[in-house]
Amino acid sequence: AAARDKRTKKTKTVCTFCGVGCSFEVWTKDRKILKVEPTENSPVNSVSTCVKGKFGWDFVNSDQRITSPLIRKGDAFVPASWDEALTLIAEKMGAIKETYGNEAFGFVSSSKTTNEDSYLLQKLARQVFGTNNIDNCSRYCQSPATDGLLATVGIGGDSGTIKDIENAGLVITVGANPTEGHPVLATRVKRAKKLRGQKLIVSDLRKTEFADRSDLFLHPKQGTDFVWLTAVAKYIIDQGWHDEKFIQSRVNYYKDYLKLLNKYTLEYAEEVTGISKEQLIQTAKMIHESTGTCILWGMGVTQNVAGSHTSGAIANLLLITGNFGRTGTGAYPLRGHNNVQGSCDMGSLPQWLPGNQRLTDNAAREKFEKAYGVKISEKSGLTNIDMLKAVEDGKLKAMYLMGEEMAWVDSNANHVHETLSKLDFFVVQDVFLTKTAQFADVVLPASPSLEKDGTFSNTERRMQRLYKVLDPLGDSKPDWMIIQEVAKYMGVDWNYSHPSEIMDEIASLCPIFEGVSYDRLEGWNSLVWPVQKDGTDEPLLYTKRFNFPDGKARFSLTEYVPPIEFTQEFDLTLNNGRLLEHFHVGNMTNKSKGLQYKLPEVFVEVSPELAKERNIQDGSLVRLISPYGSIKLRAVVTDRVQGKELYVPMHSVSHESAVNLLTGSVGDVRTQTPAYKQTKVKMELIKAD
Ligand code: SF4
Repeated sequence: AAARDKRTKKTKTVCTFCGVGCSFEVWTKDRKILKVEPTENSPVNSVSTCVKGKFGWDFVNSDQRITSPLIRKGDAFVPASWDEALTLIAEKMGAIKETYGNEAFGFVSSSKTTNEDSYLLQKLARQVFGTNNIDNCSRYCQSPATDGLLATVGIGGDSGTIKDIENAGLVITVGANPTEGHPVLATRVKRAKKLRGQKLIVSDLRKTEFADRSDLFLHPKQGTDFVWLTAVAKYIIDQGWHDEKFIQSRVNYYKDYLKLLNKYTLEYAEEVTGISKEQLIQTAKMIHESTGTCILWGMGVTQNVAGSHTSGAIANLLLITGNFGRTGTGAYPLRGHNNVQGSCDMGSLPQWLPGNQRLTDNAAREKFEKAYGVKISEKSGLTNIDMLKAVEDGKLKAMYLMGEEMAWVDSNANHVHETLSKLDFFVVQDVFLTKTAQFADVVLPASPSLEKDGTFSNTERRMQRLYKVLDPLGDSKPDWMIIQEVAKYMGVDWNYSHPSEIMDEIASLCPIFEGVSYDRLEGWNSLVWPVQKDGTDEPLLYTKRFNFPDGKARFSLTEYVPPIEFTQEFDLTLNNGRLLEHFHVGNMTNKSKGLQYKLPEVFVEVSPELAKERNIQDGSLVRLISPYGSIKLRAVVTDRVQGKELYVPMHSVSHESAVNLLTGSVGDVRTQTPAYKQTKVKMELIKAD
């Protein structure tokens, strides 16, 4: 028994299932996961986790893991050695570079891999392949929030920490479902409500569990959040409830903003959004009467044609009421994946270098040119949306994807599949043979987070270390090692022996990370950037200045962009989003027996009134048809949705029921983030019960 006990290990890791960033110890014996134990040492979750963090890990031992490199031979993949796979990559990509030049490549990083992995992929793109064509999956979700905040307060991240949200007098959520998407954060808000009497306003198309707990539930028409947020701002100013001193001393463009507000009357907002004047006034009053307001938003805001503008409107509302720079105030885009924030911070973006330094900043660019020994263009590279267009145009010949399920997650999936099959050469680095990997020429077996050392940055900008719980399965390797090998076969030797060395390099090149080191992140320690060398960090932003040269914020002066129009036959509004039990489309959690048992099948939520009109019952089989594709699934009749609004989770068990077969290609006017939430469909009854 003593010998058996010795094999039991406890290792600290950080959860990979959402942006909250819970950390806990994983108990293992050999490869068996015995239990997950959160402790009071965790800076985010203390002793809590959600069902995914607690029970979602058996995917790491799934027999569907890829355990060796795979090379396409005709329609099939055959196992290969690392040397064979890397030699083929170097040969093919070298030939493409020679023939078509640097811009023939596109790289897509992952929001699930570590900061060090993301940093190295952008280094591979910029140093070895000479291109800024690198992006990550925040393009599909959070780019509009980042854009709206960069334009107004100057930093594309949360204003403070979850503790600061807890300290608010009023929390407003817009187009977010924290109970299912960010469960432990939701618990902390619920606790603040219960213990401190914190007020809660929820604005959403669905009456979620969070909405049930709210003091006020707003139900705007799809894609109209900009209008109600701006009308509430105007009403607050009209009543003299704004913070004139804060505006005059800390914000630019107030006069222009006042001009823009003219048309956003309560009457106009009521007509466009469907929210009553009374509710709009109540919202304004609750903001006015609160000690501090935090606004949290999710993809219900960002995945619309006006996602960036609406994120700017959120910042505007907080600016006119002086709700920045104190605990209990601020703007909080809820990052979805565990490392969305970090992947962007590490420069896996076409217009940003690591450390959120602009490519157009000559001094920053020259610093990286010197470190990498190459010229870096100041011209922005291609987004992952533009990469696919460039494939269509025959300009982009090869892509390298790390941990990104583009074929299932990007909108208008049928079109994405056609485009990926046109690539001359396609490398996919992943844990499983994903839908995307099925279009690849070479698939490289990566290790999931439990088999890695590294760091993640959660939604609060909090950096935490994860330690290797298990050895990599078969021939799989941590992503940073694979990227380093690819660089080596391309003739560039980086020679890192541990991710801590990569972080040291990041710290040396990025002022916001200059005080970050693995020593300071040892164990349960965490750091919220910006982190200075003198040991200070600044979890709460904007206490003295906003991130512009004069230290002042700027009102966003953008206008409302109405939702996409569809022909009348597509008469139902389709919303989509997360489930508590599954992560995202389900590549990992579908392989977890317990979670799969709890929620085995995807469904469409139908309102009782629509069900009655269309003779649909709970369990009826229906077909949803959009201009882009169709899917078949079972109906759940529920009053979570109203009237002609439907809801389908983004998670699906098979590719045939994936909601992105229905979503279209139109995107946010500034960032191209697909307007997933602006989809219309028609519904056919296949079988009543
Ligand atoms: Fe993991 Fe998010 Fe659940 Fe925490 S709330 S355990 S980070 S999925």
